Amino acid sequence: MPKLTFLGAAGNVTGSRYLFEDTHTQLLVDCGLYQEREFLSRNWDPSPLEPAKIEAVLLTHAHLDHIGLLPKLVRDGFKGRVYATDATLEMAEVMLLDSARIQEEDADAKKRRHRREGRSGPYPEEPLYTVEDAQACVPMFRPIEYGKPVAFDGTTAVFADAGHVLGSAMIYLEFKSGRAERTICFSGDIGRPERPLQDAPSLPRSTLDYLVIESTYGDREHPPAEEVEGKLGDIINETVNRGGNVIIPAFALERTQELLFYLKRLLASGRVARLPVYVDSPMAIKLTEIFTRHPELWGGEIDNYRKGSPFEFGGLKLTASASASRAIADDRSPAIIIAGSGMATGGRIKHHLINNISRAESTILFVGYQARGTLGRVILSGTTPVRILGREYEVKARIEQVPGLSAHAGRSELLDWASSFKRPLKQVFVTHGEEDIEKEFAGELARRTGWPVTAPEYGQSFDL
Ligand SMILES: [Zn+2]
Repeated sequence: MPKLTFLGAAGNVTGSRYLFEDTHTQLLVDCGLYQEREFLSRNWDPSPLEPAKIEAVLLTHAHLDHIGLLPKLVRDGFKGRVYATDATLEMAEVMLLDSARIQEEDADAKKRRHRREGRSGPYPEEPLYTVEDAQACVPMFRPIEYGKPVAFDGTTAVFADAGHVLGSAMIYLEFKSGRAERTICFSGDIGRPERPLQDAPSLPRSTLDYLVIESTYGDREHPPAEEVEGKLGDIINETVNRGGNVIIPAFALERTQELLFYLKRLLASGRVARLPVYVDSPMAIKLTEIFTRHPELWGGEIDNYRKGSPFEFGGLKLTASASASRAIADDRSPAIIIAGSGMATGGRIKHHLINNISRAESTILFVGYQARGTLGRVILSGTTPVRILGREYEVKARIEQVPGLSAHAGRSELLDWASSFKRPLKQVFVTHGEEDIEKEFAGELARRTGWPVTAPEYGQSFDL
């Protein structure tokens, strides 16, 4: 009997990884990195699956919590193919190489720091995987288009637009259970209507047997999109008037491009006066190039900006090199600095936080989801002092959040999407949310639909 095992994003948000197996084949849907501090050690767990037996990995989209363990899977013996849309694969290459470089640098820095402090840390001082491991993934990549079926031994996969980020997909698997034809949908991360760069997520197929649905914002509604631009403009103007910098930890994928799009409009309308805007992230710069190369995947409001780049304006400074990045600290005039990582768990943002977090005139602005245990969440929760790169810093900067920028559906958007099926589902699995949110959302969806809905635990398997 076909079986589904939850190897991540079960009781937590990151580490999406689901194993589908039947007598003919094993398929892995997503292979994500754990990013919440309390679950980081799972990244190092000896693989709970047999990589050599997996026929293919199907990726919903290029965020690291959906692809970031791929290099480890390959190192551990995976020899199959990796399927995703071409934009997802182009971005995955950039993301995985960057992740590997950060893994190597972090392990190295940790080793040196622990030597100095005479202690050993909670995680191995060896990188989770290397740049070489990440490079080994690329020849396995096979691009596929939305709506074009890919056949495996006994199972067919079809990708559909999820409206979450460029090239994002929900994945349908059609398989046989005994003599019955069955379909399961993995929602991946579900986007929202009325986002600047993406169309609304595609409606689910009207008939389905099983659904694995994310619940990141299963407990919250998002403010209307039009409030985002106004709040962003107000925060920038107030910070500039105080003579401070606006420091924005931002995901390189989609969030940075959304910010640039909003900033272009704020500047064009005169709501914000021209100022230096740094994109201090080689990865975000590369991903913006990929974005620009795929206008066929654009949606939402960006459609009206096809003449010229929707992401370029006067004052924009792309700092790819390390020396250009360091020089930002010398810029004394108020500036906006966008850098990764999005949850401040690594990357150049840490240096900008160090330079600004104790300055009352600066603002740390969060524009994305901050998972429990990440530095971003710690700062957002009002903790002071905070520990960054091994030192403590008093938090004096203004801490702000613009929540409406989310690329994830809010509670009622998720509920509406998930209850639109014409035929009752055999089972719904709620994943990719904090444990209490998953459980509450599962209860609400079950009440609304009368279907069996469960929030699986890490490692739990179900017959399909
Ligand atoms: Zn995502």
